[in-house]
Amino acid sequence: MMRVYNTLSKKVEDFIPHEEGIVRLYTCGPTVYHYAHIGNLRSYIFEDILQKGLTYLGYQVKRVMNITDVGHMTSDADSGEDKMKKGAIREHKTVYEIADFYTKAFFEDFEKLNILRPEVVEKASDHIPTYIKMIEKMLKDGYAYISNGNVYFDISKAHDYYQLSGKKPEELLIGVRDTVEEDKAKRNPFDFGLWFTLSKFSDQDMKWDSPWGVGYPGWHIECSGISGEYLGEYLDIHCGGVDNIFPHHTNEIAQSEAYFGHKWCNYWMHCEHLNDKNGKMSKSSGEFLTVSLLQEKGYDPLSYRYFCLNSHYRSQLVFSYEALDGAENAYRKLKNRIRALDRTPALQESKLDYYQEQFKKAIENDLNTASMLTVLYDVLKDDTLSDFTKLYLVNDFDQVLSLGLITDEEEKEEIDADLEKEVLVKIEERNAYKKAKDFARADQIREELLAKGIKLIDTREGTTYERV
Ligand code: AMP
Ligand code: ZN
Repeated sequence: MMRVYNTLSKKVEDFIPHEEGIVRLYTCGPTVYHYAHIGNLRSYIFEDILQKGLTYLGYQVKRVMNITDVGHMTSDADSGEDKMKKGAIREHKTVYEIADFYTKAFFEDFEKLNILRPEVVEKASDHIPTYIKMIEKMLKDGYAYISNGNVYFDISKAHDYYQLSGKKPEELLIGVRDTVEEDKAKRNPFDFGLWFTLSKFSDQDMKWDSPWGVGYPGWHIECSGISGEYLGEYLDIHCGGVDNIFPHHTNEIAQSEAYFGHKWCNYWMHCEHLNDKNGKMSKSSGEFLTVSLLQEKGYDPLSYRYFCLNSHYRSQLVFSYEALDGAENAYRKLKNRIRALDRTPALQESKLDYYQEQFKKAIENDLNTASMLTVLYDVLKDDTLSDFTKLYLVNDFDQVLSLGLITDEEEKEEIDADLEKEVLVKIEERNAYKKAKDFARADQIREELLAKGIKLIDTREGTTYERV
């Protein structure tokens, strides 16, 4: 049973999706006004491991991510400058050019870090009619109000607005006081913008017609809108970095539940921050650490992935070059050890279960990546395992870890080909049992292979197989 820490309940809970075997997962995407720093990417590595870990456990994961190209201010509480506009001015480009450029750069970082691009990636600016429809309903139902030409969500109407953050309004106000300039149009300081008209920024590039005038959506509505459109009204898991808990995710819950009229998402998982020696890593202070910068300094981006996997996603992680050097060293040694393994095929199938179970347990234990690595090292240390069995397990675990442990595509194919040989031997064995009318043993072979993800298919021409 998968267990996860749920920010909503502040407890580790059994994970039970709405629909058996299927996980509807929403992960907030980047604001594409600049490169992602390696702190941002820590959150995306965590989400990638979550997706792949759930897949390893046998779930079908439907994952959606947005690209924020409109509506995000320098303060998460609707005030300050428009982030996209700021990027455009900085680089003498249009907002559209900035969005395209940094979206591309973002996914290049994904590739370097072996992060899988989610099945659905949608730009916030492509879903304006959805937001308008939602806002109209919230206005009609009394959850939203119009003031000074803008539409705001009235948080006094939300069900348990402070549950996710677990904080009292006074505490939250202290946290944001410095960055929030009072918006007189709001009834409550935490009310948030659903739609801004030109009363906010007259030089906004991205703007659309709406029932409330020409303008643009607030930051939060995009995630509720895109998630609802692709994953429906019931979400299983929603992720982001801890700084998203308030106000962003708090506001997503308020508006989604107001719109759908029921509880929306059962599990909220948040990645702790990557800090530098001055505190939370950010784009505006300290060294702007990107994956490209690490590469320029001679690091393999996957050393950074390895560095992240060594600590739990719910612990703060402090970045230093010394710590990264240590990770790169250990990662290189690990790869060398794997490279030195003998490739002669000799798969000990009976030994697989134990280690695959251990690996699953590490995933089920609130995504304990450090334990996943421990299982990997245990495999390499086990003298009773043939080298080929070790390689097989390394390849298997790397579906989740994605550390490029068996780098060579050719080598991967060789392992697959050797596995195929083993399967063919099993098929022959089964045919012999069938001929001897020993169907119990024949079925046993079928079941054993199925447990390893190989499904036999009997046809008139003979038996073939597919991976499941
Ligand atoms: P942004 O592009 O600013 O919207 O941030 C993208 C993601 O990175 C969000 O999920 C943030 O919560 C997350 N994030 C921002 N800073 C850090 C950090 N220092 N460590 C880990 N995650 C972060
Ligand atoms: Zn979001």
